[in-house]
Amino acid sequence: MTAPPHWQGHGRFVLLATGFGHGEHFLSTWNAWRHDPQRCETLCFIAIEPQSLACAGLQQALARSPLADIAAALLAAWPPVTRNLHRLDFDGARVQLMLAVGDVSAWLPELVAAVDAFHLGADSLLQTAWDTRLCKALGRLAAPGARLVAHTDAPALRAGLATAGFEVQAEPGITTARYAPKFQTRRAVARLAANPGGERRALIVGGGLAGCAAASALAEHGWHSSVLERRAGIAEESSGNPAGLFHGIVNVQDGAHARFNRAAALAACAAVRTAIGAHAALGSAEGLLRLETAMDPAAMQATLSALALPADYVQALTAAEAGTRCGMPLKHPAWFYPGGGWVQPAALARAFFEQAAGRVALRTNVAVQSLRFGDGRWHALDAHGSVIDAAPVLLLANAGDALRLLGAPAWLIEKVRGQISIAPSAAFGPAGSPGRCTLPIAGAGYLLPELLGHVMFGATAQAGDDDAAVRHADHVANLMQLERLTGTPLPVDASLLEGRTAWRWSSRDRLPVIGAVPAMPHRDFGQSSGPTQTRRADQARFVPRVPGLFVFTALGSRGITWSALGGRIVAAAITGAPAPLEASLLNAIDPARFITRQVRRSTDR
Ligand SMILES: Cc1cc2nc3c(=O)[nH]c(=O)nc-3n(C[C@H](O)[C@H](O)[C@H](O)COP(=O)(O)OP(=O)(O)OC[C@H]3O[C@@H](n4cnc5c(N)ncnc54)[C@H](O)[C@@H]3O)c2cc1C
Repeated sequence: MTAPPHWQGHGRFVLLATGFGHGEHFLSTWNAWRHDPQRCETLCFIAIEPQSLACAGLQQALARSPLADIAAALLAAWPPVTRNLHRLDFDGARVQLMLAVGDVSAWLPELVAAVDAFHLGADSLLQTAWDTRLCKALGRLAAPGARLVAHTDAPALRAGLATAGFEVQAEPGITTARYAPKFQTRRAVARLAANPGGERRALIVGGGLAGCAAASALAEHGWHSSVLERRAGIAEESSGNPAGLFHGIVNVQDGAHARFNRAAALAACAAVRTAIGAHAALGSAEGLLRLETAMDPAAMQATLSALALPADYVQALTAAEAGTRCGMPLKHPAWFYPGGGWVQPAALARAFFEQAAGRVALRTNVAVQSLRFGDGRWHALDAHGSVIDAAPVLLLANAGDALRLLGAPAWLIEKVRGQISIAPSAAFGPAGSPGRCTLPIAGAGYLLPELLGHVMFGATAQAGDDDAAVRHADHVANLMQLERLTGTPLPVDASLLEGRTAWRWSSRDRLPVIGAVPAMPHRDFGQSSGPTQTRRADQARFVPRVPGLFVFTALGSRGITWSALGGRIVAAAITGAPAPLEASLLNAIDPARFITRQVRRSTDR
């Protein structure tokens, strides 16, 4: 594509290219955007590349690029290329590259976006059967008036595009088309932006990791938000531990849980590196070990090969290799996640908050008691029924209290108490002794590297336990867990330990709850929320929603890992930006999944 796309006058312009190659098209589009005074506010370039892209090959190719500075920026941001949707940000997130590696025919139905321009690359035209089904997938993704270019005169593609609602212009060797369907297809309710064309402002209840990550992600889309927090500052409840860890997961089935955690861990790595580099957060994204007790290193390696997971995402290590990595002896082999690590959760939350500077306001010591909708705005009310603030969009990022504000919907989420333990490092003996590691170690329990002369480990997990006290018995339990992790008796006196107690809110399927709140027949917020029934309630995306009301909760014991990606997911749902996660995983974390599962169970009976 030589001429710049028709992005003039657009707030956000979304371009979808089938084929990434060595980034030539992306770099030239980014360069054109940089030099066009009439450019759009935000450029989102989605690329589907069938070939796996190794950083080394890209490096060689980009070394020859005439656009050296932006080619270097692309290389510096290059992620481990796993089969996920990767989002890379440039120029202060005003240019976003979303990269999907795999078959075009598998990826198109997984994308959630309103695309303004399609470019079907030469390789994808040769390798992909552009049948009616795939052309319909293009139609489903097309924004009104979207344009398409393909350097082919294949009749099947032209016929498919016409069926999918495109007006096709056929010239020798080239097909151009414009999306102008005779009948407007209805988009799934869960995929509709909130308040399109209206005021871009949201209220966020809760200033923990979830609320701060959402504020940061909304700011990237030019939205303003007000965070309402009942404590005196941000991250004083679950997000207030001195440190915690983040990492991905390997699972032979590679189901929704493993895929979501992988996508989240990659986003967390980038977020933690920014928090450390630009916001003085204490932490490290230089690797983490997860002990493996069921497989030997050969079986672990076979799993990695079967899943085609790259070494810059995860490696299988013997116990000896893992011990060398973490500076203390280990009894078990381990998965090494080069982009895993640890961070102070409050510092990460603060970094998110600072990234939203200018577009976020914080109000502390305000507890939201109830919600009301009126005059096109959501009102957050205090215990006296007075309005604290109002906005067209409201996001509940206040952990378990979100459920109370929603009138206790039947979502399968439980409260689990957790206590961490902290010991002076010297209590474990000299450096190199079991208990004094240089990389975080996870397994049944976890151990963090020394921080300010202390070692942190934990944590207990007690469902339905409301005791806020730090308990001696829990320190003993944490020590025993640590002995199992290190495989060695430890010389630490439990009465010397300090600790902290907090609660995790976990869904039963161990995934977060993120998205537009489903309409609930029993709950009226003072608005007409439209129909609460649908004939398609067996699929989350068709379940009716409460307009303008969103939730981001149930971060369980993985809030550090999940917050960066979760914030972007909910911000995309609010603003109508391309979702940074595939549709099947959006369904897996959708709050409506609790309804669809019930519906499926009752129809199965
Ligand atoms: C012991 C323990 C160890 C953990 N270790 C790890 C780890 O190693 N790695 C990891 O990834 N995760 C870990 N976690 C989990 C992680 O800490 C949580 O998932 C995360 O902090 C949840 O963030 P949140 O923003 O959802 O909740 P919170 O941090 O609790 O934030 C919610 C905020 O909402 C505010 N709020 C609530 N109701 C209202 C209201 N009505 N009005 C105004 N404000 C309100 C609260 O004051 C709070 O600040 C651990 C958790 C525990 C308990």
